[in-house]
Amino acid sequence: MINIDNYIQAMPKAELHVHIEGSIEPELLFTIAERNQIQLPYETADDILASQNVGKTNPKQNLQSFIECLDISRGVLRTAQDYEQIAYGYIRRCRDENIVYAEIIFDPQQGMRQGVELNALLGGLFAGSKAGSQEFGIEVQWIMNFQRDWPLQDALNILHAARPYRDQIVGIGLDNPEHRDFPKDFAPLFTAAREDGYRLTSHCDVNIPNSLEHIKDCINILGVERIDHGVNSIEDDKVVLQLIEKGIPLTACPTRYAFQSTTSIDDLEMMKGLLDQGVIISLNSDDPAQFGSGWLSQTLIEAQQAGNFSLETMTKFMRNGFSSAWIPADRKATYLAQFDKTHQSLMMEGE
Ligand SMILES: [Zn+2]
Repeated sequence: MINIDNYIQAMPKAELHVHIEGSIEPELLFTIAERNQIQLPYETADDILASQNVGKTNPKQNLQSFIECLDISRGVLRTAQDYEQIAYGYIRRCRDENIVYAEIIFDPQQGMRQGVELNALLGGLFAGSKAGSQEFGIEVQWIMNFQRDWPLQDALNILHAARPYRDQIVGIGLDNPEHRDFPKDFAPLFTAAREDGYRLTSHCDVNIPNSLEHIKDCINILGVERIDHGVNSIEDDKVVLQLIEKGIPLTACPTRYAFQSTTSIDDLEMMKGLLDQGVIISLNSDDPAQFGSGWLSQTLIEAQQAGNFSLETMTKFMRNGFSSAWIPADRKATYLAQFDKTHQSLMMEGE
């Protein structure tokens, strides 16, 4: 019998829902803050974790308190060098996680409000990912996310300014606090991005007021090709059918933080329910250095244990990561063949 933790660790993985600003490890955070002469409200890595844990016992407070912590972390970013280091840091980490393919989300608005020019921010990210990809042999693409609690025009201006970098950014998305009826406000952004050839996604966070309506509007108004989280779709059979028929995958994130909340098991049941019904749903780390959730392998191992998922279920979740990737069909087939081959050889070893 194969050990399921070893299996999860050893399998080649794709990660499609990870925020670069949420992947900054404490040591790098302190380095960047010191270089930029920014006083953090933390002295040690333990202080960071303690602060992230505030408010997590109340599920309604989770998203807001999490974003407050994230704002402190991403608040240190000031220069191209900072962005280069955080990109490189995540990709180095991919090697340890056996992540062979990653689509990484970045959020230009926060950095730009802190005075970083878009050219410097993008130049830093791309330099870091180029160096990391070459050194560790990991394929990386970037997704530019906009903040849905900030004005549409702000997002449109950045989309326009990023045009020279179009071929280095695969898609766009929306994140940050989820305000009521946000999809309606951002329809012009998605129309413009579609015309520029970007792939389209949006966060639809879990158990937000109006969650289901937001999922429907993201599909029908914004024309998203993928949804980040979106697991409340299980509450409506018609939405589940629409996801399957249109081939819209979900990138779910079963963080440890979610396990501690009262809704934790429900979240995992929703993910498994969607998988069983045929939705292409993968499991991802989201903000691996922010939730104290651990990196992808740890997140998957904890989800497996908390949900009591079989090895077959975990294989499906992990395989879906590659199936949901924004890459040409032949590249996807190559990754899936590698995945299946590793699966078979691990199974034979375990016999
Ligand atoms: Zn996210």
